[in-house]
Amino acid sequence: MNTPEGIKPVAIVGGGWAGLACAVELTEAGTPVTLFESARQLGGRARRVDWNGVPVDNGQHLMVGAYRETLALLGRLGTHSFLERRPLELHVPGFRLRLPRLPAPLNLAVGLAFAQGLDLRDKLAAARLMNFLKDRAFRLAVDGRAAEFLRGQQQPANLVDKLWGPICVAALNTPVEMASAQVFCNVLRDSLAGERADSDLVMNRADLGLLLPDAAAALIAGRGGEVRTGCKVEGLRLEGENLRLAGPGLTTGRVVVATHPSRLPELFAGLPGMDAIVAQSAAFSWQPILTLWLRFAESPRFPFPMLGLGGGQSPWAFERNDLHPGLAAIVVSAEGPHLTMPAPELKDEYLALLARRLGPLPPLLDWKTIVEKRATFACVPRLARPANATPIPGLYLAGDYTAGDYPATIEGAVRSGVKCARLIIQDRGPGIY
Ligand SMILES: Cc1cc2nc3c(=O)[nH]c(=O)nc-3n(C[C@H](O)[C@H](O)[C@H](O)COP(=O)(O)OP(=O)(O)OC[C@H]3O[C@@H](n4cnc5c(N)ncnc54)[C@H](O)[C@@H]3O)c2cc1C
Repeated sequence: MNTPEGIKPVAIVGGGWAGLACAVELTEAGTPVTLFESARQLGGRARRVDWNGVPVDNGQHLMVGAYRETLALLGRLGTHSFLERRPLELHVPGFRLRLPRLPAPLNLAVGLAFAQGLDLRDKLAAARLMNFLKDRAFRLAVDGRAAEFLRGQQQPANLVDKLWGPICVAALNTPVEMASAQVFCNVLRDSLAGERADSDLVMNRADLGLLLPDAAAALIAGRGGEVRTGCKVEGLRLEGENLRLAGPGLTTGRVVVATHPSRLPELFAGLPGMDAIVAQSAAFSWQPILTLWLRFAESPRFPFPMLGLGGGQSPWAFERNDLHPGLAAIVVSAEGPHLTMPAPELKDEYLALLARRLGPLPPLLDWKTIVEKRATFACVPRLARPANATPIPGLYLAGDYTAGDYPATIEGAVRSGVKCARLIIQDRGPGIY
């Protein structure tokens, strides 16, 4: 892509999945972009990390078939071959659910009928809840806490413990007692009540860097755009109808801010009309995710690549031989007592849980914990999330926290980035590019 004389690129601040999705969409539409990323590498909260020469992910991620924008993006970049897709199976001690390859909603009905660890009352209650939600197009009259909503729907405790609670924590990264019932229902709508393939588990079988950041950066650079890593934008200033990026010193007519929302107060200080957005971003609270990486002398035998380990915080273990033979990740979502445990104790506890599932484990060569303290916003009821367009013409917001049906996820981030790009393409005015 050759930028015509005098044409200013769209500036994108932040090279996480939202910023990269936006940059790819604009680049493919022939719109020049310059992307600024303060870290030395791209990917944000879904990035590659080097662990003594072995590439791992900053945190184990999981996608589902309903991630349409993400899967379409990776398809266009040719990296979808790094994904492994399987019909939903949940293997947890005392519970097993497997959805067969049958058309929806038969797949869910048959899956529930044969689920192990649920009694007839649980199964009927699950079917009743899905029917109740379908009749209301998954819209609740009033949002509240997911746990209260489930109690109101007479969902048995065993069903909440084994199915609804773990789905809520895994998808919203927020304990069911504090999570938004409406967002939880959105997740059920788009996964369990969608088309058959929407509930598929989609696992990355290469590090997250290979999935999007590397391919996106190559595409952008190959078409005349620019990606500047290690380049922090300190703030934005209005200059007539343009915006100036303090730090890199670029002035341009279109800017997409695709940072973590906690950065907005600093970036927007002094910008007129942005107070409401800054106040919204200040109202978010955060939930952590802990990943324990384990490197064994040889591969432990996983009967399925994703296994629930049971235990208080519902940890999940993932077989990650794709990164290195003998590699496994244990991921623990949301806040909990595990975060105050000394790392060696935590490692021993989760190793014991893994051994209970898999039998004797091969010798452990190395281990490492990564705690992302602000992994996602706490997805609580009635959270006000800012729109992608802002009161300042030419200034847009992308990120998993912007208005949308999804909790803080890769899909939410990608959707927001794509949406910003489409708004920009739609609004394209003369003399800007
Ligand atoms: C451990 C972990 C596990 C997760 N598991 C899942 C999962 O299983 N499934 C799922 O769908 N989602 C999961 N998520 C959530 C998902 O990773 C995020 O929702 C998504 O990556 C957010 O992308 P983003 O682009 O909105 O924000 P970010 O990734 O936060 O990107 C913002 C970028 O902006 C950069 N930046 C900030 N300030 C500036 C500045 N001033 N100038 C320039 N650059 C700046 C940052 O360095 C960062 O790279 C997980 C997250 C974590 C942390």
